[in-house]
Amino acid sequence: MMSYQICFRCGRRLPFGSLKYVINISISADFDGILLEPDGDINDEYERLLSEIEDLDEEALERDVYQDFDFILCNSCKDQWTREILETGGSRTPFNNDFSHFIH
Ligand SMILES: [Zn+2]
Repeated sequence: MMSYQICFRCGRRLPFGSLKYVINISISADFDGILLEPDGDINDEYERLLSEIEDLDEEALERDVYQDFDFILCNSCKDQWTREILETGGSRTPFNNDFSHFIH
């Protein structure tokens, strides 16, 4: 029986009882309340969307709307990963790291 988990990032063995972190990533399609009008006829667009949806399987449709991942990380990888995410995000967001308006 496996008595440890493995850090997703560095592969280190993390015995049960040791310090480790679960990173949960939820990715969901954002809807800002604005529906763009299609260039052409709205009925044609509706038919096109319906046939597009019929061609996709249920799993692919769900993946387009929502995905959820859990990763186990060791303490050091958690620190590095958090720093990388914040540094990368910080340079690309126009919001000065003020994420408060992302909370619904
Ligand atoms: Zn690690």
